Amino acid sequence: MKECNWCKEKVKEDAKVCPNCGKPIWKEKDKKRVTILGIIVGILFIILFLIVLIILNPASKAKEMCKDAPRVTLEDVYELHAKNVPQAKEKYEGKYFIIEGKLSKVLDNYAKIESKYITANVYFIKDDKEKVNKMKNKEKVTFCGKVDYGLCINIKDAMLIEKK
Ligand SMILES: [Zn+2]
Repeated sequence: MKECNWCKEKVKEDAKVCPNCGKPIWKEKDKKRVTILGIIVGILFIILFLIVLIILNPASKAKEMCKDAPRVTLEDVYELHAKNVPQAKEKYEGKYFIIEGKLSKVLDNYAKIESKYITANVYFIKDDKEKVNKMKNKEKVTFCGKVDYGLCINIKDAMLIEKK
């Protein structure tokens, strides 16, 4: 005697269809095949999930986007916005740029960095925020990040650029 895979009713060893529920009865071999297939699909899903996680990680995105990012000053970013908002958004918003400035204040979530006369709120990626926390006030910083116009100029997903 064996068990129906669906209703758990005891059925004859050679039964192909369950007399109780009418569903086809799997052989042991088929059961194993389905289990292995399930495991493979599960592993593929985990790999896919990890890849998506890596791609969406702000740190890896920032590294990728900052490779060939152009240099601008905070004044460039500010002045175009003061003259022509749509043009400034078109040119700068959501894009990554390398910017220089001096550290003026470090807060919990971001650092204030000043250029000639414009100060931006710079949101560093986690590892670099820790480095910024240890820096001295008025220290020069070169960083790369994504421009986001708000009440002031915000630079998101920013990372430090090593001096060459
Ligand atoms: Zn059954």
